[in-house]
Amino acid sequence: MEIDSTTRCVVALDEVVQTLEQGRVRRLLSGKPSDKMILECVGCGHLQATEGSCQYCKHSLMVADCAQEVLIRKAVLTDAEIAVPPLEALNARRGVAALLRF
Ligand SMILES: [Zn+2]
Repeated sequence: MEIDSTTRCVVALDEVVQTLEQGRVRRLLSGKPSDKMILECVGCGHLQATEGSCQYCKHSLMVADCAQEVLIRKAVLTDAEIAVPPLEALNARRGVAALLRF
């Protein structure tokens, strides 16, 4: 896959979660594991990086899980490639990014 200026990518954790859920991620770039958590809705399975009740079904029971694990699991489910980039820059940032299909 070519990476050029037209390649869409997202770097914020909440955007990565959102685009993964939409099946738009072509390649997940996972840096060093962070201690960030992602909440998974018990009601509908929706993932979100922000605290509070589910933004989709308003279910109040959310299970927190290691962000890195959740993202990789979701990437596998949506046929996204998973890459560990040798980019110190990425590690120094939020530790995760995604290149999008569209
Ligand atoms: Zn929900």
